[in-house]
Amino acid sequence: MNDNNRVNQPQKQPNNRPQGGNRQQPAGNQNQSQNGQNQQPNQNSVLARTQTRRGEVQRAARRNSELVTQVASQHAIDVPVNKSVFNGYDGEQFTLLQQKRLKQTKGPILRIIPIGGLGEMTIGKNMMAIEYDNDIVVVDMGLLFPGNDYPGINYIVPDVTYLEERKHKIRGFVFTHGHLDHIGGFKHLIHKIPAPVYGGKFTIGMLQKAMEEATSGYQPQFNILNPEAHERVQLGDSFSIELVRVNHSIPDSAAVVIRTPVGALIHTGDWRFEEKPVDGRLFDLDRMREISEKEGVLLLMNESTNCEDEGTHQHGEYDVKQSIGQVMDKNPGRRLIVSTFSSQIHRLQMVLEEAKTHGRKVAFAGYSMLQNLEVALRSNAIKIPKDVILRMEDIVKLPDGKVVVVCTGSQGEFNAVLNRMASGAHKFLKVKRSDVILFSSSVIPGNEKYVVRTVDNLMREGGDVVQDRKTHLYGVGRIHLSGHGYYDDHVKLINAVKPKYYLPVHGEFHMLVHNAELAEKDGGVARENIFVCDSGDVVEMYPDQSAKKVGRVPVGGIMYDDSGEEVSEVVLKDRIHMSNEGMFVVVLTVSKKTGRLLTSPDIISRGFIYLRDSEELMNTIRQYLKQKVARSYGSGRRLDLDDLKREIKDDIAHILYDKTRRTPIVITVINEITAMPVNQTASIAG
Ligand SMILES: [Zn+2]
Ligand SMILES: [Zn+2]
Repeated sequence: MNDNNRVNQPQKQPNNRPQGGNRQQPAGNQNQSQNGQNQQPNQNSVLARTQTRRGEVQRAARRNSELVTQVASQHAIDVPVNKSVFNGYDGEQFTLLQQKRLKQTKGPILRIIPIGGLGEMTIGKNMMAIEYDNDIVVVDMGLLFPGNDYPGINYIVPDVTYLEERKHKIRGFVFTHGHLDHIGGFKHLIHKIPAPVYGGKFTIGMLQKAMEEATSGYQPQFNILNPEAHERVQLGDSFSIELVRVNHSIPDSAAVVIRTPVGALIHTGDWRFEEKPVDGRLFDLDRMREISEKEGVLLLMNESTNCEDEGTHQHGEYDVKQSIGQVMDKNPGRRLIVSTFSSQIHRLQMVLEEAKTHGRKVAFAGYSMLQNLEVALRSNAIKIPKDVILRMEDIVKLPDGKVVVVCTGSQGEFNAVLNRMASGAHKFLKVKRSDVILFSSSVIPGNEKYVVRTVDNLMREGGDVVQDRKTHLYGVGRIHLSGHGYYDDHVKLINAVKPKYYLPVHGEFHMLVHNAELAEKDGGVARENIFVCDSGDVVEMYPDQSAKKVGRVPVGGIMYDDSGEEVSEVVLKDRIHMSNEGMFVVVLTVSKKTGRLLTSPDIISRGFIYLRDSEELMNTIRQYLKQKVARSYGSGRRLDLDDLKREIKDDIAHILYDKTRRTPIVITVINEITAMPVNQTASIAG
């Protein structure tokens, strides 16, 4: 603890025990009360001098706590049925009570239950449960990064209370691909709702890697499915699952077909169309068409990430490869640093191949990059050309023109490799004037200013910085390709699948609505058959293939910090409150026997005001405390310590607001002791 902001001036031992009991007029009471209240005979003189009404302080405190609650509740989805025209009731608000009165259908019902990922504070936390009779199957189990609004929170995983209460019914988990917004909740949740796990080979590899960090000790049962073979697995009495190949920005991505007694469902996972995928595995739209024609598709659950973007991709991974080659051609003697997403295994392969062609060697840096490469090697998801890999510690042994470094940090993360290279904190590399740095990546919304900061710092070091979407400034082609399809791609998919019902998934609310509009306008799906849901909304589908939106199940998020430990909402709120207003602690040491203060009150403040510059305020607080203690202990009545603490807390909040217009968190500690202590405040000084 830094002691600069802790004040305990040695003062004369106070002797302010009122001689005449609690009826004595306090000093300073001659002043006319200015707070509009009638002066009480035993009123504290400090309080009497304040100009602020009690109610004003309370209102300020309430405003503050409402603000804190708003900031801290962005991940909580607790809405009634939304009022979009796709809400299942043609835009009418339909209350949960009205829904309860709907006539009940006999027999088992197919229930579509988004546990997370729909209409959240940002993209992430994807998890979809499908329930029929005694069986549940779940697609994905992702996390969400809440960003800097949530101090100290690294990520949020879905609240799976609904599934925990029905865990005996869960027949399996199927994963579409290995991105964290789809698998990041796995290591925290799987032991609470255990069931067999299915996915493609690389995806299972990523899940196994994640389990190495799990603390539960639970050993999931992993099963690899081959999408190319149209392999099918029966799950319980009600379901069978099949993976269908899609393209995306991570290897081995797949859509999931779930066959149910009511009809076949398709969940797309994340996808784009690629004419020439790096691993040669094309989006298997033909298989989806075949299922559509032979069996019919009851419901298409389609991701929404880039559906608002116009047209389609005009370039592919091989164009990105070519652009990187162009940069190498232009800069034969210079070192190249390529920053990209660590799971873009195919991009890494493109860099390796292009480096090989240009007689360069490649070193990889960044923990997640190396972890993902290991999984890729084990599951044959990457082909590494011969003699092209270099260790980071060996880059100094080669001339700059022979070196490519591939690293993490494209989002401007403070502690990632790229920033450490820029600041000189990296062990093996310091960015220099002659370096060329490529951002082979997009900027995830919310990270814009961090990327700018990183780019600016790199440019200050004198290097050339080439960012995707600004490559024309450098005279080369695009150096990144989004992992998600655009508007026209979605239209193409929906028209191939021809679903009866359509449910936009994987998106913020505006994306879901635009995805729904797209399906109605250009996908030929009837408006009443499109459901825009928030996480927790339930869609029921009946044996006659009718469907309606009914009620909600509890959903939400569990927060984790950097160490992987859970953080409660109370802690988050305190952190936000403290980050806004700071904290103010008073510690009183009172003799149990005499009721006298044994030392001058100890005052500690953090993030509020700098105490050494606020002597007048501190003296005021001390004066208040001395009077308060003297009167309280001197009254002769039995003291309730909790009441006293609360009174002091309220009074100090009042005085601080009166003097500063701020409402820090106020904490009162009273130590009642029998003898003079050595260090009575040590226990709270952390
Ligand atoms: Zn995703
Ligand atoms: Zn993804």
